[in-house]
Amino acid sequence: MADDCIFCKIVAGEVPAAMVYEDDHVVAFHDISPAAPVHVLVIPRKHIASVHDLTAEDSDVLGHIFTAAQHVAREQGIAESGYRVVTNAGKHAGQVVHHLHFHVIGGKMLGHFG
Ligand code: AMP
Ligand code: ZN
Repeated sequence: MADDCIFCKIVAGEVPAAMVYEDDHVVAFHDISPAAPVHVLVIPRKHIASVHDLTAEDSDVLGHIFTAAQHVAREQGIAESGYRVVTNAGKHAGQVVHHLHFHVIGGKMLGHFG
């Protein structure tokens, strides 16, 4: 657990979150400031700062993240209509929380990037 990491505190149960999925490697919870009708964050239990900080030994964690994203999409009713899975790394991407997280966003027609 990293000091002063809000997502590590959610993983540890020290900060409340609206959980939608948990397994041994990842947890998923509703974003506190949703950008769409469905906006869930899927994060590894392990503190990894961003996608740019992944190493070869984290490859199994990535598999769990995308399996969890599929589960979340089905459970939230957006698997058929479609959804986006996105992660921000660093300043220009607008990363605010420096604990790797994947946004699962859907429930409306999404705009393009940029
Ligand atoms: P990013 O810009 O990719 O770092 O996005 C961080 C996301 O975390 C934002 O969409 C925030 O709304 C969300 N967020 C920050 N704190 C919390 C929290 N305590 N519970 C749930 N979502 C959070
Ligand atoms: Zn963390």
